[in-house]
Parts: sequence; structure tokens; C-alpha cells
Amino acid sequence: MSSPLDDRFSRHASLPGWNQERLRQATVVIMGLGALGNTVAQCLALAGIGKLVLCDPDRIEASNLSRTPLFRERDIGRLKVEAAARALADLAPSVTVDPRPHRLEAGVGLAELRDAALTLGCLDSRAARLELAGRCGLVRAPWIDGATGSWSGELRLYLDPQGPCYGCGQTDEARAASDDPRSCGVPATGLPAGATAPLSATIGAHMALLAVRFVMGLSVPAGLLVFDALQGELARVHQPRDPTCPYHQPIPGAVPVPIGPQHRVRELLVALGPDRAPLAWNPIQLRAVCRRCGWNDPKSRALPATAVPCPRCPAPLRARTTLEFSHCTPDVRLRDLGIPARETLAVRTATGIDFAELAGYGE
Ligand SMILES: [Zn+2]
Ligand SMILES: [Zn+2]
Repeated sequence: MSSPLDDRFSRHASLPGWNQERLRQATVVIMGLGALGNTVAQCLALAGIGKLVLCDPDRIEASNLSRTPLFRERDIGRLKVEAAARALADLAPSVTVDPRPHRLEAGVGLAELRDAALTLGCLDSRAARLELAGRCGLVRAPWIDGATGSWSGELRLYLDPQGPCYGCGQTDEARAASDDPRSCGVPATGLPAGATAPLSATIGAHMALLAVRFVMGLSVPAGLLVFDALQGELARVHQPRDPTCPYHQPIPGAVPVPIGPQHRVRELLVALGPDRAPLAWNPIQLRAVCRRCGWNDPKSRALPATAVPCPRCPAPLRARTTLEFSHCTPDVRLRDLGIPARETLAVRTATGIDFAELAGYGE
């Protein structure tokens, strides 16, 4: 007697090179659960990927529903990753879904990115793509980036650690810019970028197709694939590796420390030992202080980019940030600073920089 699972995947068996067991053992990270992420997650779950890590901080809006096959009208206002996890459990009971309602750098630690079979970038801003490119570069994690335009789309394959990366195709100015919208795709014109399900499903399904082939160890094309719906063409574009690109310096290796996101800054500092200063990759928001009257924000909170006035005097409060954990309140938990489980941190020592992997699990 065959099991329902064998029956479910029985049509895969005659596909040349198909390896259901390799898919079942694989963990794939999906960054972004918008239109592309929906289709990618749907296809990978149906194909029998063992585990999907879904990372997206956003909630579902009515305008998402024209392109997101995993979301329903009743899901408006819910976290995208949670609604997607529920839909996928129903659609493909064999898949384990791990929802992370966080930005990409706070949702998936570098060691987890390194150990995943593949990461799929379903993002909608250059800043988020650069962030993911930088993090994948630090741990040489293979990833595929998808993008949709007006009646066109792109698939960018970053599967060879010796090949070009997303940063190679960018100018220094573009690499430095960090103020692009992270989500919702609202460009400078004020109008949201146009998008439609037939296009996002085309690109998303193609990303999933390349992903299953890569995970099964089958050949995949290199470089950039540009899809033009007007001409019905898919063109392969060669992208050279830029030797001056700053994203080609992987972490040489990290020492594990038994610390997780539930631990406090004080415990991190103790675990690392004296004269070792851990550094965050992204600025950590500190409590706001008024430089004129000395007012101290009793709460740690993110200030908007535009200055807000001090509640005691009219001076503008400014956001203060740091990369040094030693400047943070010792009692604050790493999770509340946006540090994910299995993150790797740079550590400044008397002689230079080394690296620590937060190997403690648990929330
Ligand atoms: Zn590069
Ligand atoms: Zn003041």
C-alpha cells in the first residue's frame, strides 16, 4: 500500500533528476511575503520542500489581495507570515513553516542563512536587496532575487560564491542609500508601482522552479534572466563580478557562544569575556535624550527620521544610535534590539576583529 504522501508526489517520480528526499530535507528561507513570496512559498510547499522559513514584518492590506494566492479577505490586518503559514499548512501538510514577523536582518540569523539550502529574495526595495546581499555575502549563502516591473520581471541568481553578487551591479551611491521604502513599493512619484498577479506569478513560479532544481543539485542558469511580457522573451544577461564590490569579504569563521535572543546585553558581554566588544551590523536605537535640557526618554523607542520636539523644551529630539552593545542598557534583551537567533556578531578585541556565533537557542 502506498501512503498518501507517496500518492501526493507520485507525478514527480518520472521527472528526470527529481529527488523528493532532498527536497524533504531542505530548509529554504523566503524573505518577503508579498506577491512573489506568496507564489514562491505556494510552489515550494506543493513541490515538497521540508521546511520554509518565512520572514516579513508587514500586515495584509486590501491592495495585496489581487496578487497573493495565500491570503483571503478575512486576513486583512493579520501578519503576512502567519496568514501564509496557515494557508500552507492547509495546502501542503508535509511542509513545516516557521513564520518570522520581522525585518530580514532581525528575522534570520547569519548562521541560519548559511545553513539553509537556499534563500529567496522576494523583496521590493533596493535597500532591502542590498541588506540581504550583504548578509548572504558574509556567510556565502546562495540566494535568488526576484523583481517585477511593468510587464517585465527579473530573476537574479547568486548561487556561486565566486560569481557576481547583487552589490556588484550597484554604484557606490546606490550602496550607500538606505532610505528607499522597505515595503509597499511607493516610489518618489507617490504612486505605488503597478503590479498584477499574472506577472508576479510568472516570476515567482520561475524562482521556485530554479530553487527546486538548485536544491536537488540539478543545473541552473547563471546570471540575470530578464523576462519581457511584451515580446514574450526571456533573455539571459551576463553580469560581471566587480572586484571592488565591498560584499566579497565573508566572515572567516566564528566561535560559538551559548547566547540567544532571550539573553540580555549583560549576559552577552559576560559570555564574551573582558576586553571583547561585540558590534551590531545595523545601528541600534538608544533612548532619546534632549541635548538642551537633559530630558531622558523613559522608554526605548524608535524616533522617526524627522525630528520630534522635546516634551520639556522646544529643542528637537534626535535619534541616537550605536553599533556597540556596551552602550546599550545592560538589562535589555537581544531580541528587543532586533538580534535574531543564530546571529553572528563581529567582536572588537585588543588585536583586531573576530566573530562570535550566538549558538544559544530559544525565544
Ligand atoms: Zn559583489
Ligand atoms: Zn529638552
